Formats: sequence, structure tokens, C-alpha cells
Amino acid sequence: MDITNLHHVLADEPKFRYAQANKALFQDFISDWAEASNLPKPLREKLAEECPLGIKAEVLETARSHKSWKALITLADGEVIETVLIRQNNDKKADGIKGQEEQKSARNTVCVSSQAGCPLNCSFCATGMNGFRRNLSAEEIVEQVVFWSRYLKQEGKNEKIDNIVFMGMGEPFLNYEQFIKAVKFINNPETLNIGARRLSVSTAGVLEGIKRLAGEKLQINLAISLHAANDELRRDLMPIAKKHSLYELFKAVDNYIAKTGRRVMFEYLMIKGVNDRDEDARELARLMKKPLYLANLIPYNPTGRFQASDRGRIAEFKKILEGERVPVTVRLSFGADISAACGQLAGKKKNQAAA
Ligand code: SAH
Repeated sequence: MDITNLHHVLADEPKFRYAQANKALFQDFISDWAEASNLPKPLREKLAEECPLGIKAEVLETARSHKSWKALITLADGEVIETVLIRQNNDKKADGIKGQEEQKSARNTVCVSSQAGCPLNCSFCATGMNGFRRNLSAEEIVEQVVFWSRYLKQEGKNEKIDNIVFMGMGEPFLNYEQFIKAVKFINNPETLNIGARRLSVSTAGVLEGIKRLAGEKLQINLAISLHAANDELRRDLMPIAKKHSLYELFKAVDNYIAKTGRRVMFEYLMIKGVNDRDEDARELARLMKKPLYLANLIPYNPTGRFQASDRGRIAEFKKILEGERVPVTVRLSFGADISAACGQLAGKKKNQAAA
């Protein structure tokens, strides 16, 4: 899909055509201009030539869970990126009241990539293992959301994308301009109209990005990939920690909180024998005891080097944090069976063998 010529094509048309085109693209999710019945035929034909809408993608469905789908999107220059749709069903049973129908509601979250590859090379993450290719444009970020919106429509699901997490391939804050441009586009009531509160961005700790986001006056959620409660271990796991100490990272986060009043989530991967001991939990608790801090424990999805902590260990670790009155949640890990889970997005087609 390439709509960079849209303004140009519509330049001589009445002004309302632009709103009509936006509605067709980002609310009706047409995949062919022929479907935009509100536009005159000659214009549709011109648009079809100048603004191609096709998105080259392959979708991988989960055989088992039917909860997450991964798509590999091939960009115009041949780079392959990954994006994931996570569908959470909230089937509400009618509390035993006879005759009342079971209510079904689903929440659809899309995980988007912000770069092709990633330069940060965290030791536990599959994306970094293949190196960095390039930054994505805002259009390429938005295209991932459009892709899944079209997908839901084609599947006959009368559902929309509710949440977007910038937790796919890449480091959003190393592509700040395009990331923020994509956020504003997604927020725009004339296009995707998804509120900032429904968007979350995760950073490995790019201080400049945290600082800039604090100045945006956006209600987007911020998450920090922490993964270690001391500098030594963090430097082992994440090369970026050699650049910024935990002291500097927390200072940037505290400034962000002072400026925005918003809660910050700290992501903590649970890696067997590496960061999941009782003393790690206590060390983490000491760091987390601040207002508006929230710890999120993430079951590690094996990517080669480490092993995952078992469920019992995660529960114990959580208990220690709770005992210290640290707000803590455990992330559900969808998509592990299709290599679509956090940190498993490598942009490599060979991953499909997992299906
Ligand atoms: N670069 C950003 C966003 C991409 S990663 C960041 O580092 O935050 C999104 C989340 O997935 C991060 O919390 C990341 O640490 C986590 N993650 C990476 N590898 C993982 C793995 N193997 N298993 C589970 N989560 C992983």
C-alpha cells in the first residue's frame, strides 16, 4: 500500500473527497479502490493507479489456541517485518439467568514493529539476533494496523482493533519521529480514531525518547523493559545498559511521571536461574516501591540462549513482590506456539516451519 500520492490525486477534487477517501481507507478498510462506492468511478480508477492498496502479507494461524495470528509483511523494498494480532475473548455467561443470551465480546490487540530488525541486540530477543535493517516509516507502521483491520473484516468479524502495542520488532524510540507520527495518525478521528490511552509503547531504555514522550501531552502508556534489578546483570542481558545506568533510567522515568502523572509499567522477563531467584525479587521490589510504578512479569519465550522460569517460580516471585506491596501482574503469553510472542519476531520466513 502506498498512498503518498493521495493528496496529489485529490488536489483538483472538492475538499470533501479527502475525508471520503480517509473513511474508505481507515474506517471501511477497503482493499481495492473499486470498493469505495462513494467516489466517482473515474477517480477510483485514477486512485487505483496512483495509490495502490495491496499489502503483501502471509498470515500464520495458530493451530491450537486460535488466539493469535502472525503476519509477515513484505515491504516495497523487500524487507520483511512481523506483526501480531491477539484476540482475547471475554465470553460473559449470563449468570445463570434463564433465557438471557450469552454475551460475547472480544478485544483485539495488534502488536506492531517499528523497525526492520533491531540494533540493540538484547541477549534474550530473537529480533536483535539478525541485526538491524532499517527504520520503518509512519505509513509502514500504520499499514500493520490496517492489515489486521482488513483481515478481521474479511474473516466476517464485525470487530475493530481496540489496542495497539509498539512491542514488535525494533526499538520505537530509536525511530522516534516516525513512531510519533504513526501515533498521531492512529489517534486522528478522521482516520483510525483509536485513543492514545489504548496505545502502549515499550522501550529498552532510550532516555532521549522517554524525555521526548514526556513533553508530548499524549495519554499513551509507557512500558520499560527492565529485566534486571541491578546494573551488572542488566549490562549482561542488554547492551544498552552499558550506555545508561539504572540510576539514569529511573531518573528519566521519574521525570516522565512528574510531568505526565501517568503510570509506568516495568517489564521483567522471567529467565530460569538468571533473574528469578528470591533475592532478585527482593532487589526488584526495592526499585519498584514508588508511586505509579507497576511491575509486569513476562514468561520468557525461549529463543535459544536461556530457559524459561517455571510457573511455580513465577508465582513465588510474584508473591514476594506482593508481600512488599508492589503492584504486579503476570503477562499472558499468547502466540508462543507460532513464534508470534514477545521477542520471537525475527522477520524470518523459516519461522513458519513452527506451524
Ligand atoms: N525494543 C522495545 C520493544 C520491543 S520488545 C523494548 O525493548 O521494550 C517488546 C517486549 O518483549 C519487551 O519487553 C522485550 O523485552 C520483550 N521480549 C523480548 N524478548 C523476549 C522473549 N524472548 N520472551 C518474552 N519477551 C521478550
